[in-house]
Parts: sequence; structure tokens; C-alpha cells
Amino acid sequence: MSLMYANMPLDRCTNQRKNKRWLMSEFTHQNTLFCIINDGMSLFSHDNIFTPLYLTKSQLDSLSVDSCIYLGKNLGKGYFGKNLGEEDESLTSTNVKSLFVVDFKKLRFSTQAQLLNLGQWQNLREVTPNLTALDASIQALAKALVYWHTTHQYCGKCGNASRSVEAGHARRCTECRNVSFPRTDPAVIMLVEHKFPDGIARCLLGRNAKWRAGMYSTLAGFVDPGETLEEAVIREVLEETAVVVENPQYITSQPWPFPASVMLGFTAVATSTTIDISQDDLEDCQWFSREQLASFYKGTNAGINIDKNAGVNVDHTVEASVVESVEANDQNPEYRLSSSDSISSYLITAWKNKEIGQY
Ligand SMILES: [Zn+2]
Repeated sequence: MSLMYANMPLDRCTNQRKNKRWLMSEFTHQNTLFCIINDGMSLFSHDNIFTPLYLTKSQLDSLSVDSCIYLGKNLGKGYFGKNLGEEDESLTSTNVKSLFVVDFKKLRFSTQAQLLNLGQWQNLREVTPNLTALDASIQALAKALVYWHTTHQYCGKCGNASRSVEAGHARRCTECRNVSFPRTDPAVIMLVEHKFPDGIARCLLGRNAKWRAGMYSTLAGFVDPGETLEEAVIREVLEETAVVVENPQYITSQPWPFPASVMLGFTAVATSTTIDISQDDLEDCQWFSREQLASFYKGTNAGINIDKNAGVNVDHTVEASVVESVEANDQNPEYRLSSSDSISSYLITAWKNKEIGQY
């Protein structure tokens, strides 16, 4: 089972992209394509298939290399995206040279107007179920880099304007020359398990009040400065639920540019089972057996994130015994899994199938 946004078909060419001559040759190559990000949204085909659109330079009037961010060289892993408006149909995914991304706002007004006729803007997560793993990974990278530039226009040291350098993978202050690089916030996400006295193993899932009805997810939270990932797992579970865990075990990771995270998946074993969500932002939290998880409706749409400010405090304690009578089906999805594109869904499913965890 591979995770969405984690199947990159591009070589980032980290060393070569610093060479301006090399970068220009990639930029001007007729088989190089460009994707566009507009206010965090990607450009897709007008139809209901939502194919990501990658354009040639000739479709983007007066485009300069300095306004673009280099994404990478095509490794030929397989099919991605679609190019619209070109008469040359010889350009296919297999012979694409390199990919760049450009912020829609940096395009000429006339070019912007043309793009609006070519496709439609959508949030990546809303159409992820329609995308290939390769397209999802490219779009996630593009979205993350454009977001970083948008939110780092000024030097963090002296406050003066900074400008994009190194093919868009760094910004240099125009005054003090301070160089900053794209940031990714690490967040731990953990499948907490416990074998109860009745001999049944259960996992700990919570829900945020702003999520769609019935959706439960593994717990998650950002890593604090000066903290190991394992410490973050233990602290976050304790803060959110008052459950004590030990032995965090790393499983896998997933890029999560919503807006700028990488999710680091763990399992952990609980040494206590009483849940208290009164001190944090969960709306509810429960222990679920594998049998119960099997009856969950499998979510396919977006609706989960780790926005720690979006929750509400609920002043009560959920006892560990409240795990009975889970009923769910497509018509009445009382409980549903977190979105299928998320590492949460992966961790829960893998644990349900006894692929991860101790119990
Ligand atoms: Zn500065």
C-alpha cells in the first residue's frame, strides 16, 4: 500500500539546479512543462476527470526563469498529467524533460485569462481520489513550494524584502543577504494500541469537532522545538487524551503540504486506558477494536487535518469501556475512517490487518 503524495516521479536535481546555465537549458527546452498554482489551488481539466494540466512555455507568455520554481527532471516512472493546447502530440509523459511550477499571480493578465479558459482551479485534496500517485506527488510538491514563497516574502532577520534564488529553492534577503530555505513542519501521527483485559486489542482514535460527522482519526500533533519524535508521540497522546503511551515505533512518513507539514507515522502502546479529552481540542475519543473498524465507512473525501486551533474543549471524560455498538454502513455512516489519502487511514487499515503494531 503506497501513500498518496509519496510517489515522486521527478529527480529534484538539487546540485544541478543551482547552475544558472543548466537551469536555463531546462527552462527553455521544448519538452519542459509548467504547472500553475493559484492561491493554493492547482489547475485541472474542465471535465469531471480532473486531470492536472501541465503547460509548455509557449503557452505562458513572457515567462521568466526567475519567476519559476524548478520541480525536477522527469525520471520516466510513468504517466502523469496532461498538456492542453499544444498541437504537438508527440510530447507525452515519457519524453517530458523537466517540470517547473509558477505562481499564477506572477503571470501576465493576458496569460491568466487564457488559463481560465483552459481549465479549472481545485484544491488538491478535493480531487486526490481522481489523481494518479505521480500527479498527486507532483502537485503536492508544487503547492508546498509556492506556499513557502508566498509566506516568506521578507527576511526573517532584518525584515527587508527577499527574492527567490537557486531555482526557487531558497530566498535571499536583498539587504543583509540572509538566505532561507523552504520549511516543512514535522508532525507525528500515531496509532495507539492496547490489549484490554477482555483479550481484545483496541486502538485509540479521536475526532475534531470541525471534521465531517462520524470521522475518527489517529491522534496527531506538531513536534515541538527541542523534542525528539518519540517524545512528541508520548506528549501529544497525553495532552490530547490523558492516555499514557510507551515504545513509539516509527512506521512511515507522508508529505503533507496542507499547508507545510510532513506526517511521521508511529505506533505506540498504551499503558493506561482512561480517556480524558477535557484539556485539549478533541470533540471525542474512543477505543476501537478491529471488528469495529471493519464496519467503518471508508472515507474518500478530504476533511481531516491537524489544525490544532480548530477544535473545541469538551468538559467530560470518556471512559475506556465506551466502545460498544458501532454500527455503520454507506447509508448511515455513523463512523467513518479518515480520508483515504491520509497516513491516518493507512495506519488504521494496516493495524486492522495486523500489519503493524504489537497486538
Ligand atoms: Zn535581511
